[in-house]
Amino acid sequence: MDLVDLLNSSKHLGILTGAGVSTDSSIPDFRGPNGVWTNSPSSMRNSDFTAFLASEEVRSHHWMNPFYAELETKQPNFVHEAIQTLCPSYLATQNIDGLHTKVGPLSRYAELHGTFRTATCIECDKQYISADVLKSINDGTLPCPPICECGGYIKRDIVMFGQELDWDVFNGFEAFLKEQCDVLLCIGSTLSVFPVAALPGVAKQHGVKVVVINQEETDFDDRADLVIYDDIAKVLGEALTSLGFSVAKTP
Ligand code: NAD
Repeated sequence: MDLVDLLNSSKHLGILTGAGVSTDSSIPDFRGPNGVWTNSPSSMRNSDFTAFLASEEVRSHHWMNPFYAELETKQPNFVHEAIQTLCPSYLATQNIDGLHTKVGPLSRYAELHGTFRTATCIECDKQYISADVLKSINDGTLPCPPICECGGYIKRDIVMFGQELDWDVFNGFEAFLKEQCDVLLCIGSTLSVFPVAALPGVAKQHGVKVVVINQEETDFDDRADLVIYDDIAKVLGEALTSLGFSVAKTP
């Protein structure tokens, strides 16, 4: 079966996305040819929760890294729109950029690795808007790195290595894969970050047809039902055209 056959046959489509769906929005991925970690392996430390707790430098970088300030300005690209057009029963993303939600309403949506837009005190759980925290740092109302009024560190709501996921969010998508999903598209991810990387295997065990769309190899290719090594916008654009959708933008 090819991609169009699978999409035509699917009644409960699941989609799992990674950083590759946002590269056309000028947001670099981590492990692709021009990825942040490919170009600068030492920057991995900035995504480590133990380093965040131990190092003022890492906490300052967490807040002042221009990567996050730039994310505020980014817009969805053709791939986000194409995914919306496919109308998945459940969309789960590893991305923290929130771009899927800027396209329009989604029936069921999970941000498995959190979001950069909000922040929380790691001691008292007080909630913050990240842009407000950054503004307070810049106008001198908060120190850098920022501290909550209880004295705890304020951290963006992104899941760092060594941190627990929000298990309610994770379990919700996993239950869908076990109980309802018939086709799962894994798009723009190396499928190498656990526990999310285990989800295609869970789907497969429950009879789901698993498709991988990525420009380079992933850790799940040998178990997938279909692997397409190509540009995501090209693959989804062609699939939508074959399905009879008028593709609004040329990828
Ligand atoms: P990854 O960097 O490990 O893998 C991305 C994959 O997408 C790479 O194999 C790359 O070659 C491929 N890719 C990039 N652009 C593509 C395109 N146009 N067409 C086809 N393939 C393309 O990313 P991951 O698997 O999502 O895991 C990394 C972690 O990094 C996640 O936890 C995520 O939260 C985080 N991250 C998020 C963002 C974001 O929110 N936009 C950006 C960077 C990293």
